[in-house]
Amino acid sequence: MRVQAALPIAPHFPINRLVATNVSPELLIVMKGGATTEQTEHVVARLQEVGADARVSTGREATVIGAIGERELLTSLPLEAYPGVEQVLPILKPYKLVSREIASDPTVIEARGRKIGDDWFGLIAGPCTVETEEQTLETARAVAAAGASMLRGGAFKPRTSPYAFQGLGVEGLAILREAREETGLPIVTELLDPRQLDEVADVADVIQIGARNMQNFLLLSELGRVDLPVLLKRGPSASVEELLMAAEYVAKEGNERIVLCERGIRTFERSTRYTLDLGSVAVLKDETHLPVIVDPSHAAGRHDLVLPLSRAAAAVGADGLIVEVHPRPEEALCDGPQLLPAHEFADFARAVREVVSLMGREIG
Ligand code: PEP
Ligand code: MN
Repeated sequence: MRVQAALPIAPHFPINRLVATNVSPELLIVMKGGATTEQTEHVVARLQEVGADARVSTGREATVIGAIGERELLTSLPLEAYPGVEQVLPILKPYKLVSREIASDPTVIEARGRKIGDDWFGLIAGPCTVETEEQTLETARAVAAAGASMLRGGAFKPRTSPYAFQGLGVEGLAILREAREETGLPIVTELLDPRQLDEVADVADVIQIGARNMQNFLLLSELGRVDLPVLLKRGPSASVEELLMAAEYVAKEGNERIVLCERGIRTFERSTRYTLDLGSVAVLKDETHLPVIVDPSHAAGRHDLVLPLSRAAAAVGADGLIVEVHPRPEEALCDGPQLLPAHEFADFARAVREVVSLMGREIG
């Protein structure tokens, strides 16, 4: 008999999510431009009849149905013969729900009325770490006044050294809540551990999954439980495909409100903290319907490079930025050299906005 070792995780963890499954979205059924809702429903009903499932995406130009089930079963159905069906195509990429093909239009993520994706460029700004109430509120006021879309700030911090400041935890979350009450800005904050999901979700408007946790698959699967958008940062050694597969873990659990973030990868280059991979942004925009933003602060590790990299990100087609700001960077407990001083943020936002509007978009 095979004995399963107990998992050292919270008792509410849905173990059944760990069970392997080979059922995934395998086929795309593209409906004709003039197809009716009844015709779409007819295809969906047929899929359900044979035990498959469907993900319907109604776009500006066409409706696309993702057929979820065993590939062999799905391909045996004469779907092309159904009224209103234009084309049936296999989804060849290993990522399915996040792939470009499955959604007719780019996904727009919304939090408290602020938007990221398509016509909307998200400008997320705030401290690396919530240190004090004063430091967080000062930063929040400065970025709100300059037109930022959302406030970032870490209450639980992943630090390379176990001796470094690990964040204020729940106390930090309370400060972020206060900053939102005062400025109205939605809060983006990091979740490190599934055991803290409820506490973080109680305050966060967007849950950040940091670079170090990009392939923490248990954590990713848990995000299907919350009705909040997820900001998923690329691991410093992860490929574009691995990032998309990580996003697929979240989407598979029923949460498709995901923003991807390029934050620099590890290369031989030492003049910047990481190497900002803007090529990956262009590739991602091609591969996925999800919004893709750039973190120039962690990529550069130097505040003087944050503006040029931000401009470049906007120009390459990124859907937004996440930048670190502090009222007194020289006093910061974390990431000091890369923090934009709060009093410079308005000029920074103005310069970014110029490129954003050249790209035909506006700050969301
Ligand atoms: C952060 O955004 O504060 C952070 C820790 O970033 P990353 O996970 O990209 O290192
Ligand atoms: Mn940081």
